Amino acid sequence: MIKINKKCCFLFVLLITLDVHPQSAFNWPNGAKAAVSLSYDDSLNSQLDNAIPALNHFGFKASFYLTLSSPAFTSRRLEWQAIAVAGHELGNHTIHHACRGSLAGREWVDAKNDLDNKTVDTLINEVIQANEILNKLDGENIRTFTVPCLDHLAGGKDYVEKIAQLFIGIKAKEGSVASNMKAIKVKNIAVIGPVNISGDELIAYVKNAKAQGTMVNLTFHGIGGDYLSISNEAHQQLLQYLADNKSIYWVDTFRNISKYLIEHNE
Ligand SMILES: [Zn+2]
Repeated sequence: MIKINKKCCFLFVLLITLDVHPQSAFNWPNGAKAAVSLSYDDSLNSQLDNAIPALNHFGFKASFYLTLSSPAFTSRRLEWQAIAVAGHELGNHTIHHACRGSLAGREWVDAKNDLDNKTVDTLINEVIQANEILNKLDGENIRTFTVPCLDHLAGGKDYVEKIAQLFIGIKAKEGSVASNMKAIKVKNIAVIGPVNISGDELIAYVKNAKAQGTMVNLTFHGIGGDYLSISNEAHQQLLQYLADNKSIYWVDTFRNISKYLIEHNE
């Protein structure tokens, strides 16, 4: 016969009454162990030329955070529109990609486009205008944002908190794979920016997300060209690994992953 401890029984009833779950009930869709958000920033030629064909080969959907004043956007607008039709996300990365020139290593920031010299209102208007341009391309009203240079301060004041309601998800800071789902806030997502690393090192990031049961946000720039690049071979090796383990990893746009997080984790 099982002896029921009165204290234990009371706790059990209390948990049922309060609908408190001792363990997190969060699950990724279709039994996946981790989510993988592949992002490509700054609308670069090598993304259209190299990343997109590789993603399409495996049937993976990714998010492209477009800098709308970039020549690789303005001269190839129809190609960016075509990737949205194919199911990739066109994310907002502002029009002019202003960053803070006063930070260390920011000698490359143009004085005319220095976030330290701009106002919050200027940035709000720019972000709204960028959403309008993107809407004309893809017809979407639900979108995500990656903060250029991950700099939140315009003229010393936080502009990102002012535009947060315009998006369902924001890639907002540098960081690593979250150790638990409670640490994941959809409008304050931490990203890893791999530069010049191997396919094995990229795969180690996604394996870490599987081990934690959380998600990994990889933010790329050049793929086999441009700047802050990884090689085509490393990129291909990562995609091949994800394709070989489709039941383990849910690879999708940050828009779709954000929708899921809002419904199940917020
Ligand atoms: Zn950028």
